[in-house]
Amino acid sequence: MKTYDIAIIGGGIVGLASALALSKQKGLRLALIEAEAEVAAHQTGNNSGVIHSGLYYKPGSLKAKNCVEGREAMYRFCKEHEIAFDQCGKIVVAVHEKELPGLAELKRRGDENNLIGIKELNAQQLKEYEPHVHGVAGLYIPETGIVDYKQVSETFARLIRDSGADIFLNTKFKGMNKNGSDLILETNQNPVHTKHLINCGGLQSDRIARSCGVDPGVRIIPFRGEYYEIKPDKHHLVNNLIYPVPDPAFPFLGVHFTRMINGGREAGPNAVLSFKREGYQKTSFSLKDTLETFTYSGFLRLGAKYMKMGLGEFYRSYNKQAFVRAMQKLIPEIESKDIIPGGAGVRAQALEANGALVDDFKIVEAERMIHVLNAPSPAATASISIGEKIASMALQNFNLLSN
Ligand SMILES: Cc1cc2nc3c(=O)[nH]c(=O)nc-3n(C[C@H](O)[C@H](O)[C@H](O)COP(=O)(O)OP(=O)(O)OC[C@H]3O[C@@H](n4cnc5c(N)ncnc54)[C@H](O)[C@@H]3O)c2cc1C
Repeated sequence: MKTYDIAIIGGGIVGLASALALSKQKGLRLALIEAEAEVAAHQTGNNSGVIHSGLYYKPGSLKAKNCVEGREAMYRFCKEHEIAFDQCGKIVVAVHEKELPGLAELKRRGDENNLIGIKELNAQQLKEYEPHVHGVAGLYIPETGIVDYKQVSETFARLIRDSGADIFLNTKFKGMNKNGSDLILETNQNPVHTKHLINCGGLQSDRIARSCGVDPGVRIIPFRGEYYEIKPDKHHLVNNLIYPVPDPAFPFLGVHFTRMINGGREAGPNAVLSFKREGYQKTSFSLKDTLETFTYSGFLRLGAKYMKMGLGEFYRSYNKQAFVRAMQKLIPEIESKDIIPGGAGVRAQALEANGALVDDFKIVEAERMIHVLNAPSPAATASISIGEKIASMALQNFNLLSN
């Protein structure tokens, strides 16, 4: 029976990027296990495909640092491996005068995060970038781009395998036992023996930590993000990427428009509480997941504070006209007949027991283990940088640095 030095749980972009960084360490016996039949089956394969610039994040946060570094690393990786991408830039649009302070704050954050080439736009200049947009002012962010993160992940997986590491698909982690210095990962297939473990389980990461005897300190609450597709004869309404000024309390709220790397145009996502962790349909339901959400003190506190906002998201989810009205704030001429329901992704949002949404990446270390418990957007953009950080943390803490 082979014993690995490190086993990674989760074949999303964070687990894969960590494995890729570790695969550069000579002689390391490395395995990655993934529950699904393919990599990137959950958050990574169902996201907006945006390479974020690093505009939004609190200067000095892990998100800010890893997004800026990771974005450049992602562009380099795509060039090197001939993965289609487009550094098309994006605009952020203030539709009312009252959003101007928020826009100014974004510009300030962008400067502090060392973004290059941000342009302040007046109403007329906005139209030079996006002729169908309505707004009083905006920003042009040239460093934003688009890519297919599934393709990036598949390339990561190929390189990991080429290095001699093992990727086991259809292999679901079920629990862990210790045997001397070995950790035995029980799965639906053969057990995996390893000296160390890295949990990159996304929507299941808190449960995986608990199965390993580690208190995650947070619970994952799933929020579904639903998209509409813009019909091809209306693609001209969106050249590239069009975003509203975010609400600082809920930066992931606010419908935006995205050109996909395959040429499609999407609007969304919203953020609706999901009654199932991997719940991609409005009808998706799991009693276990729902009970875990509604019996969590953190969720009850969050719900009490932001009930109105949550109900608004549900309303827009079930009422296409309400969704269209949100879109029309940015592009007044878009109509209900121009869009059809598209796909959805589910965000793994870590929530603290006091009701605080964990904003930054959260990585918890325990004896012979590392647990990644919050890797929200822009973790796909930042994946190469986060992967390198996790790999160096692992090699140091697990004493695996070769001379
Ligand atoms: C709607 C939406 C839009 C987004 N847009 C963007 C964007 O434009 N740009 C950006 O940078 N980021 C974006 N993000 C965020 C980004 O997609 C995530 O931050 C990133 O994909 C997280 O990667 P991950 O590897 O942590 O999680 P995941 O991709 O969810 O991977 C976790 C993996 O763990 C596996 N797993 C779970 N349990 C087990 C188990 N028991 N055993 C084995 N395997 C297990 C799962 O099957 C899964 O493959 C978006 C996210 C969403 C949901």
